[in-house]
Amino acid sequence: MDQFSDSDLTLESLHTVIRLAGRFKEVNNRPPVFMEVCGSHTMAFAKSGIKKRLKDHVELIAGPGCPVCVTDQKSIDAMITLGESPNRILCTFGDMMRVPGSRHSLMTAKAAGNDIRVVYSPLDSVRIAEENPDKEVIFLGIGFETTIPVLTLAIREAEMKEVTNYSVWMTTKLVEPALRALLDSGDVKLDGFLLPGHVSIVLGKESYDFLPADYGMSGVITGFEPVQLLSGIYKLMNVLLEGKPGIINDYESVVTEKGNLIARELMDHYLAPFDEEWRGMGVIQASGLVLKDRFAIYDAKKKFQVSLAQPRKTKCRCGEIIRGLITPEKCVLFNKSCTPSNPIGPCMVSTEGTCAAHYQYMRED
Ligand code: SF4
Repeated sequence: MDQFSDSDLTLESLHTVIRLAGRFKEVNNRPPVFMEVCGSHTMAFAKSGIKKRLKDHVELIAGPGCPVCVTDQKSIDAMITLGESPNRILCTFGDMMRVPGSRHSLMTAKAAGNDIRVVYSPLDSVRIAEENPDKEVIFLGIGFETTIPVLTLAIREAEMKEVTNYSVWMTTKLVEPALRALLDSGDVKLDGFLLPGHVSIVLGKESYDFLPADYGMSGVITGFEPVQLLSGIYKLMNVLLEGKPGIINDYESVVTEKGNLIARELMDHYLAPFDEEWRGMGVIQASGLVLKDRFAIYDAKKKFQVSLAQPRKTKCRCGEIIRGLITPEKCVLFNKSCTPSNPIGPCMVSTEGTCAAHYQYMRED
């Protein structure tokens, strides 16, 4: 990986991208506008300084690929409510702990005495269920296609070990329906996508064929090191200048044409499409996966009755940031009442959040 973060090569690549962006501008009278779909790309662009250096040459817009950011407030409220009953243990990934719900966060609920545990893998939550047979263990199942196969592994583990006090609150998200919803809305004008590296390992290159076929839109699958990021931008501009929309796999070391077939088979076996609710984007048809009926005993939404009030409205503009409509600086709370130590919205909490990236690496002050 060292070659992809070599400083001389990064600088040379940066100048090459700027030169090509100049050509794009000559042809189109404006800079190219690209969306990086993945939250890890957003963070990598900000941290490497590339976003700042390119701001007059290539417009890079953050997209809806941060799983914590797109998780709707209702799911956090539901988990907090579930955890208030005795004999329950909630498990979650660390980032979700600080995301504010309507009343408070899971972190506050834990401080109030509820048994809420941070795990690194959903499999850890199955082990917790085995160790606590007199308690119900509920895992908050968030994530895109990178994480979803691991959720299915946890279900398989519970099934094989006949662990019946275990369930998942599924609120998973799929990339294709989100990109389709963005493009169908016409709200944000883009020239192309920098496609997520991790998710593409599971999905494969061919899963993006709908972009050129249905929208005439191009995309490049790219890695996360500075030279890889710049290479992705360069190749995307090249495709556009050649006028032939297509998908390029610029991350061939790990991404194949068809993706990880074993992971995809696992998802097909356990899960079915669901009209999932996204923060800021509303309900998108078939944009998530839930457990099939025959695995209902592991589905927390079916196992427990949770009645919820409408989520509390705040001035947080994460919903618009997720859709690429505004930058964090346009939110009046950014770097004032909303900071990483006092986050008002998930985009400031998550290590992949756009507001957190701008706060850490792109603040003018
Ligand atoms: Fe939400 Fe804070 Fe970002 Fe504003 S700065 S959009 S309040 S997370």
